[in-house]
Amino acid sequence: MSQVYRTLKIRIPWRLVEERPDVLDLAVRMHLAVEEYAKKLLKELTGQEELRLTAEELDRLLTPDRRELAVKIIDEVFPKYGLKRYFIDQAKFFWRDTAFWRAIPLNAQLRVENERDTSKAVFVDLESGVVRVRKLGIPPFAVKLKKGNVAWIRERLEEGARLKLAFLGVERRRGKEPTYGKLYVALVFAREATPVEPRALVVVDVNRLDHGVVVGLLVDGKIVKRKRLPDERAVKKLWKLHRKIGRLDARAARETDLTRRSFLESRARYLKSKRYRKIRAIVEQIASEIVKLAREHQAAIVVDTMDYETYIARKQSGESGDKKHLYDGLGQLRRRLKDLAQWYGLPYLEERLYSTVCPRCGAKMKREKKRIMCCPSCGFSDTRDNIPLLWAKRRYWEILQKIKQPVFSSVPAPLTLLTS
Ligand SMILES: [Zn+2]
Repeated sequence: MSQVYRTLKIRIPWRLVEERPDVLDLAVRMHLAVEEYAKKLLKELTGQEELRLTAEELDRLLTPDRRELAVKIIDEVFPKYGLKRYFIDQAKFFWRDTAFWRAIPLNAQLRVENERDTSKAVFVDLESGVVRVRKLGIPPFAVKLKKGNVAWIRERLEEGARLKLAFLGVERRRGKEPTYGKLYVALVFAREATPVEPRALVVVDVNRLDHGVVVGLLVDGKIVKRKRLPDERAVKKLWKLHRKIGRLDARAARETDLTRRSFLESRARYLKSKRYRKIRAIVEQIASEIVKLAREHQAAIVVDTMDYETYIARKQSGESGDKKHLYDGLGQLRRRLKDLAQWYGLPYLEERLYSTVCPRCGAKMKREKKRIMCCPSCGFSDTRDNIPLLWAKRRYWEILQKIKQPVFSSVPAPLTLLTS
């Protein structure tokens, strides 16, 4: 059994942010204090500045004997940002979580029916569909829950999760001078997951979002199901949007009239954020279909990833250019699959499965037609998308064995905070 987490991010509406500058101010002060705390703590522990650690590395570093040091830093840093007793106590008590999540955990209560209000800082009332945030040294405020939020919370409850804690967060916008914008309340749900003993494999070939993600179900070393996600319609729509943006950008670049140019640019910006949302929605849908399939067959999820260098090279190359978001989408998909797999106790493995090496004889294959690969050595040929699946089939028992020595992590990855 291990503790697993999922986070729901509830956006604080712009109107509230505008009407209540004190909320933004508090969120920014909390953010800055935590950043300084984490930076100082890690510097003391490693002697290094600005290091990027994985959740596992952080977990190994933050051993119980570091608590005293953490407490000392909190005492020193937090008052500088005007953070009073409650925040200091919370950060000290959750000194590890504060460093992991890069946020101060607030205590929280979830009211499902009519339980007594226990005066926690974040009070989530499912019946009235409202999140109240209070006791933070500023006047209280409330955010309405969307229908989708309520449904999401109810699903987690049905899975046996409970609300563990909450955060008040702010997104930093990149730029020369960092600015702070969107505010949110994040609710962290936790449950005990029993790792699933895998009886099958769901193999995911992650190539490019618009080519579709190929998913295969393998049972007893045989491919029993194969499908391409998302459906063609979604891909077509995405491409249409993509071309529209390309045309707008080109027109804006040629336009000499400033007013018209800025009109075209703002239209393009609008469509780009629409595209971003669309990609997120597609990723969401693909991930949930894959996880559903894996849960139905008690399967481990095996993701074939192109190696990191190829990924970065392609992302930065002219070939991808403006298509770079399609690769971003794939990064999102991997994180999403990993998070969901962990939540349901499904084993997850990233494994390099070849798409250009012959699964029959191991020779380097050649591209014959658009998506057809052919082996010059033994004559085997198939569509490019099928080849990683055939490799998974060939290595089925080996991969299954590999998965059975689990590297199950119970550490909350800081990144998961960004997804819901
Ligand atoms: Zn061959």
